[in-house]
Amino acid sequence: KQNPEGDSHFLEDESTKVFARKVADHYSRRTNQTLEEREASPIIHLKKLNNWIKSVLVQLYARRGDVVLDLACGKGGDLIKWDKAKIGYYVGIDIAEGSIEDCRTRYNGDADHHQRRKKFSFPARLICGDCYEVHLDKVLADDAPFDICSCQFAMHYSWSTEARARRALANVSALLRPGGTFIGTMPDANVIIKKLREVEGLAIGNSVYWIRLDEEFADKKFKSSRPFGIQYKFHLEDAVDCPEWIVPFHIFKSLAEEYDLELVFVKNSHEFVHEYLKKPEYIELMRRLGALGDGNQDQSTLSADEWEVAYLYLAFVLRKRGQPDGT
Ligand code: SAM
Repeated sequence: KQNPEGDSHFLEDESTKVFARKVADHYSRRTNQTLEEREASPIIHLKKLNNWIKSVLVQLYARRGDVVLDLACGKGGDLIKWDKAKIGYYVGIDIAEGSIEDCRTRYNGDADHHQRRKKFSFPARLICGDCYEVHLDKVLADDAPFDICSCQFAMHYSWSTEARARRALANVSALLRPGGTFIGTMPDANVIIKKLREVEGLAIGNSVYWIRLDEEFADKKFKSSRPFGIQYKFHLEDAVDCPEWIVPFHIFKSLAEEYDLELVFVKNSHEFVHEYLKKPEYIELMRRLGALGDGNQDQSTLSADEWEVAYLYLAFVLRKRGQPDGT
């Protein structure tokens, strides 16, 4: 059996699994940091900025009592954000066993590496699994429907094949209630491709990151005809070192529409910061997270190289078609 690219399905399936495993192993290996180690990170301000972006998304869309699905939840870094939003129930899923273990530890409050804190006010279910392979509507039949689905810095791991990208969106669509919200962050393919076109070779980067497009996709710098499976290696100091896939946003948008998910907005992180950092409550939030220096309302505490990495990402919001009452 041949797919349109001429590769056999068998090969595609096997290598897809190998790469999904590579991603899982990479994240599983990353152990929890102490507060001191975290503060010493060369990308500490970028991490804080990303936390601020996710917090703003949560504050914009979460309502008291919401039922929340966190796809690729990692170590549960967003649990506190959901707690502040007073949600009613949380389901977190991640492919990396080590991360789900850390998430469970954090949720149970026995060894939180940032601070000892009171228990979370919502019940939670934490599952280890591949969100882009498994039919989650079956696994989560008793937990659905969800008011909000969140997929932070992870949607691009579904873009290795069309089947996985479709499974990801089918899962979100099947589990959200009509009118429910899908919030997320992922690499901004337009920025990555633009930067790759500006250089001679297949690599871009600065002191904290590098991206190397796989040799076999060299022509994709100029022809973005292939919608899935364009692989690159991503290295971000003290954070990421694994294969990732380009997500052309127009393809993401139109595929999402096939699954009744309509675009509310998409904003590059720079645009997101400029727009929401005008609002007093979000300036205050940024200050509390420690991503801003005293009195500054811009990116001044981020190094120029960290600010360049922020530019590689975008935030999106989609809404499941239909009215909350199911009409
Ligand atoms: N969402 C978390 C956050 O914002 O802190 C974690 C983000 S981390 C950059 C990416 C996460 O995606 C990792 O925890 C990784 O294990 C997870 N991931 C990658 N592929 C996945 C898959 N197929 N199914 C579930 N989780 C996946």
